Amino acid sequence: MDILTKCPKCQQQERIEKVLTAQSNQNVIFHCQTCGYEKRNIETKKG
Ligand SMILES: [Zn+2]
Repeated sequence: MDILTKCPKCQQQERIEKVLTAQSNQNVIFHCQTCGYEKRNIETKKG
């Protein structure tokens, strides 16, 4: 099962496990390998 996510900058669709990196402190980093866009500290609200 491929879950795709879209880069907000270049609109390129990539598989989510390719562009999202989970950190040990529960932060998530989005990194687009196509345009180099990077967004840190994505809020992952849970319950
Ligand atoms: Zn991009």
